[in-house]
Amino acid sequence: MKKIPVAIMGATGSVGQKFIELLEDHPWFEIVALTASERSAGRAYGTVVRWMSSKPLSDKIANMIIEETRPGVAGRIAFSGLDAAVAGEAEEAFARAGYVVVSNARNHRMRPDVPLLIPEVNPDHLSLIKNQPYGRGCIVTNPNCSTVGLTIALKPLYDAFGVQAVQVVTMQALSGGGYPGVPSLDILDNVLPLIPGEEAKMETEPLKLLGAVTAEGVTPAGIKISAQCNRVAVREGHLESVAVKLTRPVPPEALIEAWEKFTAPPEVTGLPSSPSKVVRYGDDPAFPQPIMHRHSGHGMTVSIGRLQPCAVLDYRFMLLVHNTIRGAAGGAILNAELLYQKGLLDV
Ligand code: NAP
Repeated sequence: MKKIPVAIMGATGSVGQKFIELLEDHPWFEIVALTASERSAGRAYGTVVRWMSSKPLSDKIANMIIEETRPGVAGRIAFSGLDAAVAGEAEEAFARAGYVVVSNARNHRMRPDVPLLIPEVNPDHLSLIKNQPYGRGCIVTNPNCSTVGLTIALKPLYDAFGVQAVQVVTMQALSGGGYPGVPSLDILDNVLPLIPGEEAKMETEPLKLLGAVTAEGVTPAGIKISAQCNRVAVREGHLESVAVKLTRPVPPEALIEAWEKFTAPPEVTGLPSSPSKVVRYGDDPAFPQPIMHRHSGHGMTVSIGRLQPCAVLDYRFMLLVHNTIRGAAGGAILNAELLYQKGLLDV
């Protein structure tokens, strides 16, 4: 098959680098353009980027010249790892110019005509694209990195038993704040109990993801969510402590069975970035841990453990999600694969 040309916007950042790492050997997509700010444009990628992956940067990518983030660059898909300060306008300009924009940024996530997508959770929300005013272009978003893990854990419970309320406390990795992120003296020997804007995203985005799609938009799920978000001195992998209230009494084995049996819809299971297990439940009493389990399913599997009864809500458990793979670039690439699979790329 002739590969589909793709551009990476914000290619020098944490998420942009992960896009490069995951797309270099992709069976369907080929990187043909890299963009960043005016500060980086016009220079060879290898001379600008502070490459953070353990996988070496290839000569091919290192020699590519970074372009300004403006329509006109090559590519049918424009993957966006842009800073939210500029993503809103830039992504719209690309969509208007006919690109399929697959974004990580928060700017367009809650628009009624924009799918906020996790292919295993709400592939039907892609139908919202037809309400967008861009002709051949469109915008599809993936959720906040902590929201992805939480929503994947809630989906099988929501479908099987109903979920009334959720309380979640996160311990989020440094890479979630981009590079260079939090100064070392703010995080060594410390935990930061503030990630601006994060709690509101976690309390609203799952409601759209688990909501019902209609002709006009999405009717949000009726779940009460309370979130508290903390930054901790971990490089990659967000750990979340979750308590849930279900709509009916169920034994703990039923929750574990729901997670273990959770599979993606058939149109998603065969996609190149789809993990063989969407959720992995571990019995080890100290499971999951970022340093050991974040790469489960090549970073696309959500790890869950420590299911226990909760004296306040019904159950509590821990989950781990890889923030720059499932929570960002990997999730966005899976979104683009679903767009292709459904014939929505118009290539
Ligand atoms: P980052 O490391 O700060 O990278 C930001 C990128 O945006 C860089 O490539 C930067 O290019 C580019 N940029 C900044 N100003 C620009 C401008 N005026 N015009 C064009 N490009 C500009 O951030 P990140 O962590 O990768 O996050 C990128 C986006 O993904 C954000 O919207 C973030 O909220 C979202 N996100 C991140 C994660 C995560 O785990 N990190 C997870 C989910 C979603 P220069 O190098 O030239 O400045």
